[in-house]
Amino acid sequence: MRKTRVFIAFLLVFSLFNEVSHASDTIPLQCMNKKTKLLRISNVIKGCEKTEVSLGAGAISRSLIRPSDVDKQLMYRFQAAQAAAKKEGETIYIVSGFRTLSRQQTLFNQAVRKYGSKNEASKWVAPPLISHHPWGIAIDVNYPDEPVGAGWLEIHGSKFGLCRVFENEWWHFEPVIAPGWKCPPLVPDARYSKD
Ligand SMILES: [Zn+2]
Repeated sequence: MRKTRVFIAFLLVFSLFNEVSHASDTIPLQCMNKKTKLLRISNVIKGCEKTEVSLGAGAISRSLIRPSDVDKQLMYRFQAAQAAAKKEGETIYIVSGFRTLSRQQTLFNQAVRKYGSKNEASKWVAPPLISHHPWGIAIDVNYPDEPVGAGWLEIHGSKFGLCRVFENEWWHFEPVIAPGWKCPPLVPDARYSKD
């Protein structure tokens, strides 16, 4: 009985400690100045100022309904990254962002003809219902001519919540983390796209 009490007391202290240490690493919020595109760190409770937009405090996942453009917050993240890249003499630009389902279907059909099978094509162009482009949460950057700029984004993108996700596509980026977090390891190709 006594042992149980000691154990419960230990659990209580442990969970309390856990709460406290958890509270201290609350995700800071990256706010981008609308004019200068510079970032400022706020805390989640205070939020961003009127002159700023939030880059969000988490991964950007797909919305409930099909969008008609690239996710707004993804665009803010890209603009902040683009401004930072420019300061370091690098140019990054979006070649392809939002695609309609029918556009994605056309691209997929072309890939099937080019690579000879649906499975092989899926390594390069995800089918419409799998691809994150029709959800507005994927961007292709600097394809095909300027991999160096995309390389800059691969190195620095996590600060803005942007990650390269596929081993075989240096140009494809998604907002899969909160700004300032670590990007997950690359997956081989578009067939491994997460929902
Ligand atoms: Zn892509």
